[in-house]
Amino acid sequence: MKAHDGMYIGGQWRPAAGHDTIAVVNPTDEQVLAHVPAGTAEDVDAAVRAARAAFPAWAATPPAARAAKIAALRDVLVARAEEIAETVTAELGSPLALSRTVHAGVPVLVAGSYAELAASYSFEEKIGNSTVLLEPVGVVGAITPWNYPLHQVVAKVAPALAAGCTVVLKPAEDTPLTAQLFAEATHEAGLPTGVFNLVTGLGPVAGQALAEHEDVDLVSFTGSTAVGRQIGATAGAAVKRVALELGGKSANVILPSADLAKAVNVGIANVMSNSGQTCSAWTRMLVHRDQYDEAVALAAAAVAKYVPGERVGPLVNARQRDRVRGYIDKGVAEGARLVAGGSDAPHEKGYYVSPTVFADVTPDMAIAQEEIFGPVVSVLRYEDEEDALRIANGTVYGLAGAVWAGEEAEAVAFARRMDTGQVDINGGRFNPLAPFGGYKQSGVGRELGPHGLSEYLQTKSLQF
Ligand code: NAD
Repeated sequence: MKAHDGMYIGGQWRPAAGHDTIAVVNPTDEQVLAHVPAGTAEDVDAAVRAARAAFPAWAATPPAARAAKIAALRDVLVARAEEIAETVTAELGSPLALSRTVHAGVPVLVAGSYAELAASYSFEEKIGNSTVLLEPVGVVGAITPWNYPLHQVVAKVAPALAAGCTVVLKPAEDTPLTAQLFAEATHEAGLPTGVFNLVTGLGPVAGQALAEHEDVDLVSFTGSTAVGRQIGATAGAAVKRVALELGGKSANVILPSADLAKAVNVGIANVMSNSGQTCSAWTRMLVHRDQYDEAVALAAAAVAKYVPGERVGPLVNARQRDRVRGYIDKGVAEGARLVAGGSDAPHEKGYYVSPTVFADVTPDMAIAQEEIFGPVVSVLRYEDEEDALRIANGTVYGLAGAVWAGEEAEAVAFARRMDTGQVDINGGRFNPLAPFGGYKQSGVGRELGPHGLSEYLQTKSLQF
């Protein structure tokens, strides 16, 4: 695995200001893959200066020309898709098939969508005797997590570029190699010098320096609610724009009229994908009491197909594995019934956790309230639709969810009452243009599609 020993700043790889490095570990075999520099406030400052210097020209570049550069970037991501998939597999541990289709594939869709949007978006509107100009916010500080190492980056950088913003990216410590590959791709695509910059480093050092930098105009953060709260406070104190994509504890609501087997099987697949490390995963399955035992049996059978080391990869690091195992022990201690999996390690090597299903989970249990971020599903029993709604809405989160019913209209009526940012109706397909983001403590702001683009724009009204 090729790693750069510098930062990508102002169109070139430059030595880091300090000498500290971060070891990148393969979660499948626990071997060190590479080292990348641990950036400091000095590196962040150099990157922000480069982004600031590049901003006026990039903001003034006609949208069609910006669109052409984003299209070129998409083409590089296509050309290097296999390398991207292998890199994600090496540092995240996801099975190669998933890395190809999702980790390498989805960013191509998203970059493509912004190449189109940059060209077609209306950066000007008329309201009565006013012309409203939609102008780029400025320099963006992007801070991303490791769970979808390239998608999280592209979901911020592509709309920022489309809007005319310049960017400094601080990727997650666990997956910096994919971010370095992305920096190479921006270079190959011919993005002007300083429009995109990369500083690898630790969250509380490089991440914090970026969030606090006075010349950053907007901080876009995806990660834990705890860090998001801190970044929101910092941005608030500086009166600076902030977008937060945080945690989730989404409900998969199976109404009695639904195709139960399909809803359970798709629900289990949704959580097991990426080893449960998906913020929008439907980790709470809500089933009517009359169908409960059948659903639990179906869930246990479905999860047996997800063999660690085959269809399911390890978790990203030892800390996450221990955290998830801790939650499994907590579920047992709270009185939930383990029907598949458990906290024992399925393999000696690698940060694997057994795909786990809990039955007899009550809404107040920690495993039903807190984000676990691993391959763990809780099956909860509801009495009637009102009870299902109370349970579905009964957490501090509101990122995603699913509703299944015999008739689409019945599912939609329920979905309208859910306090959450995205709902899949009867297994609806992923839409890269649909706004993604949270209600309640799942965040502030939206990513993807035109809503994601508008996050990077500010308005100026001219009166005539
Ligand atoms: P995390 O919050 O620890 O880290 C996310 C990013 O923030 C990393 O780049 C990290 O280095 C950086 N960071 C850490 N401390 C910082 C600080 N003090 N200042 C600035 N930056 C800092 O989260 P994680 O463990 O990497 O990711 C898992 C969490 O992310 C889960 O809770 C998950 O739900 C959430 N997540 C949310 C979404 C979403 O779109 N809503 C997507 C993926 C992950």
